[in-house]
Amino acid sequence: MTMHKTIWQDTYNLTPFSALNKSLSTEITIVGGGMTGILTAYLLSERGVKVILIERDRLALSTTGHTTAKVTAQHGLIYHELIEHMGLENAQHYYQSQLDAITLIQKLIEENEIHCNFEEQQAILYTNDDKNKKKLLQEAEAYQKLKISGQLKDNIPFPIPVKQALVMNKQAQFHPLAFLEVIIKKLMRNGVEIYENTTAVDIDVQEQTIVRTAREYNIISEKVIVATQFPFYEGQAFYSTRMYPSRSYCLGFTSEDNYPGGMYLDIDQPKHSLRYVKHNEENIWLLGGESHKTGQYNKENHDPYSDLEKYAYKYLPVKEWKYQWSAQDFTTLDKVPYIGILNKKHPNIFVATGYRKWGMTNSAVAAQTLTDLVTNKDNPYQELYKPQRFHADPDLKKFVSNNTNVAKEFIKGKVMKKPTEQIERKQATKTKIDGQTVGLYKDNNNQIYAVDTTCTHLGCECNWNQVELSWDCPCHGSRFSFDGKVIEGPATKDLKQVDYK
Ligand SMILES: Cc1cc2nc3c(=O)[nH]c(=O)nc-3n(C[C@H](O)[C@H](O)[C@H](O)COP(=O)(O)OP(=O)(O)OC[C@H]3O[C@@H](n4cnc5c(N)ncnc54)[C@H](O)[C@@H]3O)c2cc1C
Repeated sequence: MTMHKTIWQDTYNLTPFSALNKSLSTEITIVGGGMTGILTAYLLSERGVKVILIERDRLALSTTGHTTAKVTAQHGLIYHELIEHMGLENAQHYYQSQLDAITLIQKLIEENEIHCNFEEQQAILYTNDDKNKKKLLQEAEAYQKLKISGQLKDNIPFPIPVKQALVMNKQAQFHPLAFLEVIIKKLMRNGVEIYENTTAVDIDVQEQTIVRTAREYNIISEKVIVATQFPFYEGQAFYSTRMYPSRSYCLGFTSEDNYPGGMYLDIDQPKHSLRYVKHNEENIWLLGGESHKTGQYNKENHDPYSDLEKYAYKYLPVKEWKYQWSAQDFTTLDKVPYIGILNKKHPNIFVATGYRKWGMTNSAVAAQTLTDLVTNKDNPYQELYKPQRFHADPDLKKFVSNNTNVAKEFIKGKVMKKPTEQIERKQATKTKIDGQTVGLYKDNNNQIYAVDTTCTHLGCECNWNQVELSWDCPCHGSRFSFDGKVIEGPATKDLKQVDYK
């Protein structure tokens, strides 16, 4: 199996951009070069706005490069809940904004003649659980109320036991990096300045906004768009307490059987997702799932990839394993993304986050909404996605339970797990050195890497992730390599190295 490589990266050929090497000024700075940052830069540059886009690593290779790339308004079970908690009109807005996003992506593909295997597919939810069957029936009623084109079905074309399925018609799938590579080239032609390997570490708000980067060069601009998935700069808007990160795992395999079409998602636990990709003359089946809160994989003696593999062998015609990867995304308190100004105190800083693993369409919603907002145009969805909204009922309960969970994680892990001499190769443990909790990782050559496992974002205690060999923060999803280097934010600083003999 090709380990830890996504199918999309196989054909990614974009020449790297250099790092920022001097201080600059512009109209709009965009921090974060995933689908959100890239599409927003594109729409702004099409309106003639001067944009600088900076990316910590390489463009489009973080979560965007690790997606399963279903382009759909069927975001699991959502519409019944939206109607209940936010009312019919807001639910209608949510659905319409997602349809607009699909139309925007399609338009960009057509206008720029992009070959990214964009093709229409049905999206299908299914369950084999009686309680969840009721929920699917409620969701089907919501589809009717919202005039969503879809239908109930009793089965799906795989030998997976199913009590109920719900189809949404005319959805799509594509190759996200093939799409974005062309858009990035268009950005360059539109005069957008792009810098990779450039980490933003802070924003100073003065008359203008100053984005400070790790190498001490600054970008001064009128407005800043924070498109870093989790906002690297929170400006006392407390996104840390209003979202939680969840990781999922994906496998790609070939099969002797023809894929029957459709993009599937079961709503039982653990969830599984299925689609196919036409890739180098082969059909690759993509199976995803085994989600868990980041830094909180608690199944002893299991690993999510093996569990996914078992599921595949049980129900699907696997021929050869080709790919495996994992990634994470954030869910907000009411499951609707936060898109808009950071908070009232910072009207020139904008944010787009909390896509709940539905960021192909939500990044397009964000790009359109933020482009309108920063150019002082009204957008039909700005109220729905406004980060300052507050819907008392569900928010309050989840706010409390989310925070309780985060509070536990501040304390958890300060406990020593195993004596250091027992660490095996390619494993890690925690210990106390002079009263400080230290994470120890032993590599294949018996070399020990010792780091302070206190997350450099807000001081939670990181937990070891044996599958990815990383230290993962259970509070806000920052991840660090075994030797402490930042892999994913919001943290911008590496874990502290500890002297260990
Ligand atoms: C396993 C999985 C499967 C998914 N499948 C689907 C799907 O089928 N359909 C769908 O719609 N959505 C799906 N999603 C969700 C979707 O992939 C994401 O929501 C989307 O890619 C997020 O895009 P983004 O640009 O907001 O974030 P990212 O792609 O994460 O981009 C943010 C960028 O900001 C950079 N950055 C971070 N901090 C800094 C900093 N301080 N300075 C500079 N740069 C910084 C990062 O390096 C990164 O490149 C899936 C998600 C997961 C985890």
